[in-house]
Amino acid sequence: MQDKLITTLKNNGYSLTKTRQALFSALLSGKPRTMRELTLDLASVMDRASIYRTVALFEELGIVVRVQQGWKYKVELSDKFSPHHHHLNCTQCGKILSFNEPAGFEKIINNLAEAHLFHLSGHTLELQGLCHNCQTKPTA
Ligand SMILES: [Zn+2]
Ligand SMILES: [Zn+2]
Repeated sequence: MQDKLITTLKNNGYSLTKTRQALFSALLSGKPRTMRELTLDLASVMDRASIYRTVALFEELGIVVRVQQGWKYKVELSDKFSPHHHHLNCTQCGKILSFNEPAGFEKIINNLAEAHLFHLSGHTLELQGLCHNCQTKPTA
């Protein structure tokens, strides 16, 4: 993964700096993170502005993607840097659970695209609802 990061940066004329390395490492766990969480985690390495700048660069280079949650978002590593997966999005507490799609799902998607003479380069799938915890909690 580290090599891939360096290659991706290099191919686009960028080098691996301490801040870029720190952001990448913070996302390696695979868990989608809010900008706030990243800002707190990386406070000792860089300020808020550099985090936003670095995330924007990573987005542009396809290293990270946004996981939209209503009007808010979290960021995580793209499929290039983490195994392909999808999200179950809790609309109440903001928890995001990841899941791998069942075998055969990818094929259904591919057939669907083919039926529309569409050349597929990727797909995302976000499921919204209430996590187990929030189902048992009364709404505020
Ligand atoms: Zn998929
Ligand atoms: Zn929840």
